[in-house]
Amino acid sequence: MWALPNFVLARSGGMPPSTSDASSPSPNALRSPGSDHAHSPHPLVIVQGFLGNGSWLWGSFERYLNEDRPKNPRRTIFVSVGPVSSLHDRACELYYALVGGTVDYGEAHSAAHGHARFGRHIPQGQYPQWSEEHPLHFLGHSIGGATVVKMQWLIRNGHFDRQARPGMVLSLNAIAAPFRGTPVVYALGERVDAAPAVRPFSVGALIGKFVHVASFFAPFLPDILDMHGDCRSLTYRDISVFTLMRQLWRSDWAESRDATPFDVTLQAAEEREAEGEGRVEPGVFYQSHVGWMTNRRTLSSPHHTPRSYFPFSASTYSARLVGSFDYSTVKPAPRICVARAKMGEEYWANDGIVPVVSQWHPFACSETTCEHVTGVRNRSPRPGVWYVHSTQDTHHTSLVPLWTGTHRQQEFWRSLSRWLAQVEAATAPTRAG
Ligand SMILES: [Zn+2]
Ligand SMILES: [Zn+2]
Repeated sequence: MWALPNFVLARSGGMPPSTSDASSPSPNALRSPGSDHAHSPHPLVIVQGFLGNGSWLWGSFERYLNEDRPKNPRRTIFVSVGPVSSLHDRACELYYALVGGTVDYGEAHSAAHGHARFGRHIPQGQYPQWSEEHPLHFLGHSIGGATVVKMQWLIRNGHFDRQARPGMVLSLNAIAAPFRGTPVVYALGERVDAAPAVRPFSVGALIGKFVHVASFFAPFLPDILDMHGDCRSLTYRDISVFTLMRQLWRSDWAESRDATPFDVTLQAAEEREAEGEGRVEPGVFYQSHVGWMTNRRTLSSPHHTPRSYFPFSASTYSARLVGSFDYSTVKPAPRICVARAKMGEEYWANDGIVPVVSQWHPFACSETTCEHVTGVRNRSPRPGVWYVHSTQDTHHTSLVPLWTGTHRQQEFWRSLSRWLAQVEAATAPTRAG
């Protein structure tokens, strides 16, 4: 009989949730009476991954998300953020897309990264009432998940206005998120020894050129090609053709520390963790959905190789690269290499893009609070804990965003609906009588 790999077996993180301070109300406090799951479900905000824009790929998922509440469906909100921007820039764009106003990337950040402090003006936010009394659920695919973690971190550190509180995020649901980086970025072009530099003529370099051309012609292009480069002045109205050519030769954006590729390097992930970014908020509910499409090559090696029935998948090639990646080539050496003997196969098992260990949650299990779920879980969820769900034979887009109507996709949305209702039931104010 086939057994679950060791990295799936139940494990739990050792640290208690960070201590609640005066600005962190208990999960039962401040929720609006309308949060009763039988009445008005809190909306679900969807944040997409690298190069993701628009909802056209997502198909008819709402049919299954709302199957058990046909008369009172949960609203879903797709938010458009920079498809190649850094986690910081995306998090700022996410926040202002919801509340409205002019995107403020922060004085220190914009000075450090050489772009304007203020970006796009959003006259009408998609959820202007967003507050602790009217919190939101978030679902992030790939770097969308890491984007929500970054936004929580910025809220916690007072980046936004005084009304912004960590409890405005009711739950964070991540799918295939590279919380701790992914070696695939090096395969695409990021230099292992000199990130954020990008190898010329690599896939990453080509994507960078495409982004600059799309930004140059942005006023004429549809929303799906919106690169959110407002703060960088890259359109034909702002720069000359000569400047465009110079950017195509060597991009100040793509080869900077303020873009998606650098943010998914192992180095950037470690820098975030060193700052404490990604610590659980005590009042927020977390879950991650982890997949892999690889098998252990031999019992004597932790390396993985794609399963034989994925021969023509687009991610088979990258799954092979991630499955045999030599972590010791990365400079500066990531912390995980120091403890190489402790690296289990979860560093090589992957969904074609992200290794399993990175999809679990920020930090190692011993450094955060987590529960890796291996069966049906009927207990009410607790806030401040990462619930990790693992599914084999899953590639990076098996669940979302590419809707193909599989049984697995239908079940995912049904189970997400149940989970969100459980969270709302756990946080609904106790009603007298
Ligand atoms: Zn920036
Ligand atoms: Zn864990």
